Amino acid sequence: MTPARHYINGEWLGQGALRDSLDPATGAVLGQYHAGSKALAEEAAASARRAFFGTNWQTSPRQRADALFQIADRLEAAQDEIAGLIVSENGKLRSEAMGEMIGAISELRYYGGLARTILGRTFEAQTGALSMMHREAAGVAAIIVPWNAPVMLLARSLGPALAAGCTCVIKPAHQTPLIHQRVMECLADCPALPPGVVNSVNENGSEVGEAMVASRDIDVISFTGSSATGRKIMAGAAPTLKRVGLELGGKAPAVVFDDADLDRAVRELTRGALVMAGQICVAATRFLVQESILPEFTARITEAFRSVRTGPGADASSQMGALIDKENEARVAALIERAGDECELILRGANPGGKLARGAFLTPSLFRTDDLQSPLVQEELFGPLVSIEAFGDEAEAVERANATVYGLAASVHTANLERAMRVSRAIRAGTVWLNCHGRLFAEGETGGYGQSGLGRLHGVEGLNDFLETKHIYMEQGSV
Ligand code: NAD
Repeated sequence: MTPARHYINGEWLGQGALRDSLDPATGAVLGQYHAGSKALAEEAAASARRAFFGTNWQTSPRQRADALFQIADRLEAAQDEIAGLIVSENGKLRSEAMGEMIGAISELRYYGGLARTILGRTFEAQTGALSMMHREAAGVAAIIVPWNAPVMLLARSLGPALAAGCTCVIKPAHQTPLIHQRVMECLADCPALPPGVVNSVNENGSEVGEAMVASRDIDVISFTGSSATGRKIMAGAAPTLKRVGLELGGKAPAVVFDDADLDRAVRELTRGALVMAGQICVAATRFLVQESILPEFTARITEAFRSVRTGPGADASSQMGALIDKENEARVAALIERAGDECELILRGANPGGKLARGAFLTPSLFRTDDLQSPLVQEELFGPLVSIEAFGDEAEAVERANATVYGLAASVHTANLERAMRVSRAIRAGTVWLNCHGRLFAEGETGGYGQSGLGRLHGVEGLNDFLETKHIYMEQGSV
C-alpha cells in the first residue's frame, strides 16, 4: 500500500518522515503515512487562499452542489472498502463503520442541497434606502478532525464549509491516516472541485494543527476534538482573531425515572454507552437512576453490560470493538482501578486475553457513586466505563445532570410526557433524547453548552460557522 500523502493544490505530496499506522485489534502495522510540517501546513493554507480568490468557487453555488454530490457518489461507490479500513484502522465494528459511511454520505448530500439555498434578506429601513443582507463565504476554513469518526466528522465540517463557498485545509488525526487517504482519493476524483479548493496535510503531533491555527491565510477553524485541545486552539486563534467552531468533549448523563420502560432504557443505554467502545463524545457516561428502581436497574444493566461480546470489528459476532490503541487501553484500565479504589466497582472490565491480548480491548465496566466531586464523575473517560448515581426527585435529577462542566448531550427516560419535556428543557445540553440515546443525523444541529464547545454543526445552522453577513446599502430614492 502506498503511504498516505498530503494533497495540496490538486497534487499528491509524499513529503515528511514515514510513520506507521496500526490495527488496534492486533497491534499489526497496517500501512504508513507521511507526517506533515509547519511548512506544508502553510503551503496548503496558501493554496486554499489562492483558490478562494482566484476561482469562482465562492460565487458558484450550483458548482458547489455538484461537487458535494460528486464527493458523496464517490464515497458511496467506495463505502465497503472505506468501511473495511475503518474497521481495521479504527477498531470499530463493521456495522458501526457502515453507519459512519452512510451518515457521512447523507451529510454531504444534505449540504449539496443547501448550497443552492444560501439565503440573505432585503429590507427598506427608510423610504428609498435599500439594504441587502448578503450571506457570503467566510474565506479559508481549516478542518481539524479527531480519530473516533474520521469520515463522519470530516463530512460534518466539510459539507457546510464547501456549501457556504469556503475553501479548505484538512488535518486528519494521526491514528487514522489510511482511512483519510482513501477519502481524499474520492475528493481528488471530483471534476467539479477545482484544484486548491480542498487541501489536506497529515501529521504526527501538533505542529501542523498549530500552524493552521496561527496562519493568516486561514479565516475559520472548525475543530472537533477534546476540550483540552479546544482551549489551546481558542488561545492560538486569538492573535489573528479567527473565528472558531469547537465541537468538544462530553459527559452525557442518562436520567432514568421510576416510571421508565426499563426494558427499553436498558437496551438504549447499553448501546448508547458502549457504541464505539464508549469512544464517542455523546456516549451515555453517567446513569442517573431514581432511588426506588436503583436495585432493579443496576441488576439489569449489569447483566446487559456483562453479556456484550467484546472482539475484533471484523468478526460479525462481536458486539463491541477495540479501543483506538494500547495507550488508551492502559489509560482506561487505570481509571477502572481508580474506580475500584474510590467507589463501588459493580462490573470490572479487563482485556479478555487469549487471542485478544495483543489488541486494545477492554470489556465494559460499571461503578456506583454519588460523589459529584469525583474526577470519575466530572471528567470525560472516553471508554466503556460508566457511573451509576442515585437521585430522589426531579429537582435532584436536574441538578445532578447539570453538575459537570460539559453540556453536549443527555437523555431522559420516563413515561410521563410533561416530565420528559420539563427535564429536557432544564438540562443544559445541546441535545436531549427522550426514551432513547444517541440519534444523530444531518438535519439536526449538534453542539455544546459550557465546555463542550462553541457553535453548531449539522443542520442549517451548521452553515453559520462558514458564512459572513455583509450589509450592502443603497439610497436609490423613490419615484
Ligand atoms: P484531540 O483533541 O486529542 O485531537 C483532535 C485533533 O486535534 C487531532 O487531529 C489532533 O491531531 C489535533 N490537535 C492536537 N493538538 C492540537 C493543537 N495544539 N492544535 C491544533 N490541533 C491539534 O482529540 P481526540 O483524542 O483525537 O478525539 C477524542 C475527543 O474528541 C474526545 O474528547 C471527544 O469527546 C471529542 N469529540 C467531540 C465531538 C463533538 O461533536 N463534540 C465528536 C467527536 C469527538
